[in-house]
Amino acid sequence: MSVFSKLVVSTTQARPVEKLVTGTKPGKALASRFVAGDHLDDAVRVAKRLNAEGFLVSLDLLGEEVRDRDTAVIARDEYLECLERIAAEGMDANISIKLTQLGLNIDYRLATDAVDLLAEAAGSVGTTVTIDMEDSDHTAATVELYANAQKAHGNLGLALQAYLRRTPDDLARLVPLGGHLRLCKGAYVEPASIALRSKSEVDAAFAQQIRALMTSTGVLPAVATHDQAMIDLTRELAAARDEPFEFQMLFGVRSSLQKELVGAGFPLRVYLPFGSQWYPYLTRRLAERPSNTWFFVRSVFGS
Ligand SMILES: Cc1cc2nc3c(=O)[nH]c(=O)nc-3n(C[C@H](O)[C@H](O)[C@H](O)COP(=O)(O)OP(=O)(O)OC[C@H]3O[C@@H](n4cnc5c(N)ncnc54)[C@H](O)[C@@H]3O)c2cc1C
Repeated sequence: MSVFSKLVVSTTQARPVEKLVTGTKPGKALASRFVAGDHLDDAVRVAKRLNAEGFLVSLDLLGEEVRDRDTAVIARDEYLECLERIAAEGMDANISIKLTQLGLNIDYRLATDAVDLLAEAAGSVGTTVTIDMEDSDHTAATVELYANAQKAHGNLGLALQAYLRRTPDDLARLVPLGGHLRLCKGAYVEPASIALRSKSEVDAAFAQQIRALMTSTGVLPAVATHDQAMIDLTRELAAARDEPFEFQMLFGVRSSLQKELVGAGFPLRVYLPFGSQWYPYLTRRLAERPSNTWFFVRSVFGS
């Protein structure tokens, strides 16, 4: 992660900055570029439009680092409702979940039970559950929980971050479990002992992992990136691949490229966040892209 990104992350973690962003029109306007809206109905409306345009969708109820049981249970129930809506509306969608939203920081069992329930409910309506990868405090527990749940249910997937030094080992261990593996670069600030830090190192690791995953069998590779070089590499590998794979991209990021890939016949799943807890998600999107941050700063302080 660049010095710029670290600066954005540390600044946005300050409480007054959060209040300023969440309480101002430009903050909400910027969030609306990346988030479907506050409610499930908003997400359903946007997801149906995306489906009609040929995209697959992954619905993400925003929220993370939950510290009390009641909130974790409410999130689990909202995801169950989400799955019911996917079935009722006939949407081509799955769900993306964060384990800390489902209680991982409170009790490992609470999160495991929630994942079991969601995987069963997803299976009963013919869809899947992807577990997002959060910061490195949670990597080991997330990989463990995923491996057990995937063995038990068979309809899960996991995000793996190319910048983590451990990821090549995780890939080798998890590919034989099938499911779908979402490869992304990684969005958190991590120490050098745990993660690669320079862009060139992360890109090289990502390319190597894309090669490994796209040449594996019995697993669905989900290449999650907006990086043209990585997309070109994936397209090249796809030409020699006999089994399915998909691209994944974030709602609101490089939309014309998304349309171009779908137009060329590639399966592309749009990660579609919704809900009122959008601030941490927005800060990660700002940190990835200086122009997003400058746009926001100009909007708030510019005139
Ligand atoms: C579907 C999906 C799911 C993800 N899930 C996770 C997860 O579970 N855990 C995790 O740590 N990370 C996750 N990420 C985020 C990921 O790790 C990266 O931080 C993010 O995708 C940016 O990396 P990039 O590969 O697009 O490459 P970059 O080199 O960062 O970007 C390539 C180009 O894409 C465009 N771009 C990238 N980001 C933005 C942005 N925010 N705004 C505008 N333009 C942008 C720019 O044109 C940029 O030049 C996910 C990403 C995707 C697409």
